[in-house]
Amino acid sequence: MSAYEYETHDYDVVVVGAGGAGLRATLGMAEQGLRTACVTKVFPTRSHTVAAQGGIAASLGNMGPDNWQWHMYDTVKGSDWLGDTDAMEYLAREAPKAVYELEHYGVPFSRTEEGNIYQRPFGGHTTEFGEGPPVQRTCAAADRTGHAILHTLYGQSLKQKAEFFVEYFAIDLIMSDEGACTGVVCWKLDDGSIHVFNAKSVVLATGGYGRAYFNCTSAHTCTGDGGGMVARAGLPLQDMEFVQFHPTGVYGPGMLITEGARGEGGYLTNSEGERFMERYAPTYKDLAPRDYVSRSMTIEIREGRGVGPNKDHIHLNLSHLPPEALQLRLPGISETAKIFADVDVTKEPIPVLPTVHYNMGGIPTNYWGEVLNPTADDPNAVVPGLMAVGEAACASVHGANRLGSNSLIDLVVFGRAAAIRAGKVVDAEAAVPETNKAQVDKALDRFDTLRHADGAVPTAELRLEMQRTMQEDAAVFRTDETLADGVKKMKGVAAKLGDLRVTDRSLVWNSDLMETLELANLMPNALATIFGAEARKESRGAHASEDHPDRDDKNWRVHTIARVAGTGVDLGYRPVIADPLTSEDAGGISVKTIAPKARTF
Ligand SMILES: Cc1cc2nc3c(=O)[nH]c(=O)nc-3n(C[C@H](O)[C@H](O)[C@H](O)COP(=O)(O)OP(=O)(O)OC[C@H]3O[C@@H](n4cnc5c(N)ncnc54)[C@H](O)[C@@H]3O)c2cc1C
Repeated sequence: MSAYEYETHDYDVVVVGAGGAGLRATLGMAEQGLRTACVTKVFPTRSHTVAAQGGIAASLGNMGPDNWQWHMYDTVKGSDWLGDTDAMEYLAREAPKAVYELEHYGVPFSRTEEGNIYQRPFGGHTTEFGEGPPVQRTCAAADRTGHAILHTLYGQSLKQKAEFFVEYFAIDLIMSDEGACTGVVCWKLDDGSIHVFNAKSVVLATGGYGRAYFNCTSAHTCTGDGGGMVARAGLPLQDMEFVQFHPTGVYGPGMLITEGARGEGGYLTNSEGERFMERYAPTYKDLAPRDYVSRSMTIEIREGRGVGPNKDHIHLNLSHLPPEALQLRLPGISETAKIFADVDVTKEPIPVLPTVHYNMGGIPTNYWGEVLNPTADDPNAVVPGLMAVGEAACASVHGANRLGSNSLIDLVVFGRAAAIRAGKVVDAEAAVPETNKAQVDKALDRFDTLRHADGAVPTAELRLEMQRTMQEDAAVFRTDETLADGVKKMKGVAAKLGDLRVTDRSLVWNSDLMETLELANLMPNALATIFGAEARKESRGAHASEDHPDRDDKNWRVHTIARVAGTGVDLGYRPVIADPLTSEDAGGISVKTIAPKARTF
């Protein structure tokens, strides 16, 4: 028996995470009368979603012709044909509905002259199945869209009487002996007490793991805790080798300058003052997808055309835009540029560099948010009682590369889908599963071991070693050699988890222990990323291998399924779902029109 006492709580549903995905799921569950708890390690409105700037994609057609078929096509092509087609269709079809719901919940979107939701162009979003001009599809609340969405969803969730457990850190999942998820063990940060939540359904909405890298745009809280919990439960992670580098992180500190800046007319230049994107992507130029632009910038720098004394970054120009437009549409990034780069955007260019921004991979799910544990007989087998949504999950709608503004829409469409599904599969009358005490003890033993860790390596030191290794060896461009080297190094780094030193032994506001739990979660995410990358002998989306420069659909149009055990990773593969939900030709979408072809812009 564990040395820790704990309080138990019974709910129909427990949502772990209160970002956009967790809150949309919480709200949807509570609206249907399910008894819903939302557990979160930070206050809901401090979740990373609050930092989302540019907007949320939906084919409303407020600024010109658009339809879900074009949005779906762009998402399929953006994913470099690695996304699951049923999920991508669901995303594009449901997007307008999900955005209008947000509007009705009270999200203060920017408006057109006519009073409709304002929409701006974003990279990779086009018309006419990639043949027409860029489309204005990204709905925005100035450059603070995530902030507006998060605050609105939190207010609405409270209105529906969802119960919030704020600053509760989820340590581990509780699985039944039959392999169903029946709850989660949490540590309450402000008084040190332990809490066990039993539930008929657990939803992981814990966000991404950008902090596995040294330079990223994500908050310090983005530590892949959901992925860590899943890996420890013996469940797999999917497509982790696909890590998105955003073209425009501020050179140095890495803060994001939204793609909306280019959507509003900004452009990139090299040391010769050349708008080099015109060479790489003649049609869509600076609005080509992110993997494309990040690679082009990296090539410019490598070939000696970077700016600055060390020729190691690129300029983003906005000063040709009217100051009123910058004030109205991009007030937040004007401030960011001033504070972090000391640049007045009305007069000077912003120094930028590709920076880790988003994890396409995550916990595999179907398009209802149900977690998958593929077996030899059934690649789409579901884990009873467990769902995952948002950046923690991999539905997979982003495949090998996510289009800008397709994450916020992923959060609300699949947060909502998970609630719709729970409404069907969770029986509000049934009894809540009993606590599997052996599993709770196991989780608390691990917790106790880390709390009293007395080895040689401080957490911060090991974290830095992991971050530098990932940054160097799983970068924008990869080679067989850097990846093999990275795998070897990461095995060594992960082995040091057993030799950690934690100095604070208390249970109350012990940030040393919390960061140690987070590091233990980052590690399996990082391992799965670099092992998956090393094994994938092709280039697709964000995975650009110099030794295998072409996409290889014959051998590699498959999802990587990574099971992490200790310092090793067991890799398997799962077929991509190639068929749309719509079997007949639906407004131009058919198996034929979305079949893989070369990806040019
Ligand atoms: C700077 C920035 C700008 C962006 N701009 C855009 C944009 O304009 N458009 C777009 O589409 N996408 C954008 N993205 C991407 C998008 O914002 C994210 O992918 C998305 O917000 C992730 O939401 P989420 O709900 O999955 O997770 P998050 O918002 O990261 O929330 C995670 C939640 O999980 C909780 N949690 C985590 N671990 C635990 C644990 N162990 N115990 C308890 N709780 C836990 C946290 O407390 C938090 O509430 C941006 C991302 C960044 C970093």
